[in-house]
Amino acid sequence: KITVIGSANIDYIMQMEHLPSPGETVTDGTFAQAFGGKGANQALAAAQAGAKVSFVGALGHDQTALDYKQSLEAHGIDCSQLSLEDEWPSGSAFVMIDRQGNNCISVAAGANAALSPERVHAVEALMLQSDWIILQQEIPQVSNQAVLAFAREHGLPVLLNYAPAHDLSLHLDAAVHGLVVNEIEAADLLDQSFEPGDREAVLKLAEALRRRGGHRFVAITLGAHGVVLSDAADCTYLPAFEVDAVDATAAGDTFCGALALALGEGQSLPNAGRFASAASALAVTQLGAQSSIPTRQAIDAFLLS
Ligand code: ADP
Repeated sequence: KITVIGSANIDYIMQMEHLPSPGETVTDGTFAQAFGGKGANQALAAAQAGAKVSFVGALGHDQTALDYKQSLEAHGIDCSQLSLEDEWPSGSAFVMIDRQGNNCISVAAGANAALSPERVHAVEALMLQSDWIILQQEIPQVSNQAVLAFAREHGLPVLLNYAPAHDLSLHLDAAVHGLVVNEIEAADLLDQSFEPGDREAVLKLAEALRRRGGHRFVAITLGAHGVVLSDAADCTYLPAFEVDAVDATAAGDTFCGALALALGEGQSLPNAGRFASAASALAVTQLGAQSSIPTRQAIDAFLLS
């Protein structure tokens, strides 16, 4: 059983030929609205991969939020701890994407700010029953701290996706069993940039990051370069699966959700990493965030192909 405590956003996506400069208006956009937010994406990725998932989050209280909640429930996710807040609009992400796939994103936390430490205390029983608790960085930092404090006290396994990297104030220690970061977040945490293609360097950095925080394992995802995994036993580099990449949105989220599911099933870190790499490779072959997250059947078939 996996509990995700994190964000849910409504994504407002505009695709256009080129991104506007300050003061410029471009008028060739194609608009789409989608359900997103790292927390909910990861909850969905774990559920699609076959996990029993509870999502703890907060949305506004309007028709779109109700539709969103219903969509998560339709995928089998327990949403009894997903609150609909009267005083807040849902979290929103304005996403502009150009023809080449470059993007500019602006996020308003909205109701995600209502996911307070009190809400965390209210789900302690749920946390105690979980094989993994998954966190990201789109809810108040004090709430993540409250989860880590409780997990530390009770020895509960937490997987933290330290994303986005804008706020690096969360204290990282052994309460974070698994730390998952992409190359940008890893560079921010280590205060050191690196070449994602330089395997030796990345292996060393993953090892350094793991030792520094006393984590059981660290995963540094490297986009099309793959992922590096470090635990006490080993440091492994797994190349990415070769696919026709269409849209990298939610690649990292799919990786985290699938990784937690596979580890929860008792798979070794390298095997779980391979499973998560397959899930996220499939996700980048489809446009969109939640709509691109593959099912268990699709992941297993891809691994056998
Ligand atoms: P984030 O979305 O957090 O930036 P990454 O871009 O590092 O995360 O992607 C996470 C994982 O998704 C990678 O480790 C890899 O397994 C997979 N992935 C991402 N981009 C590609 C790609 N172009 N081809 C195949 N797999 C990919």
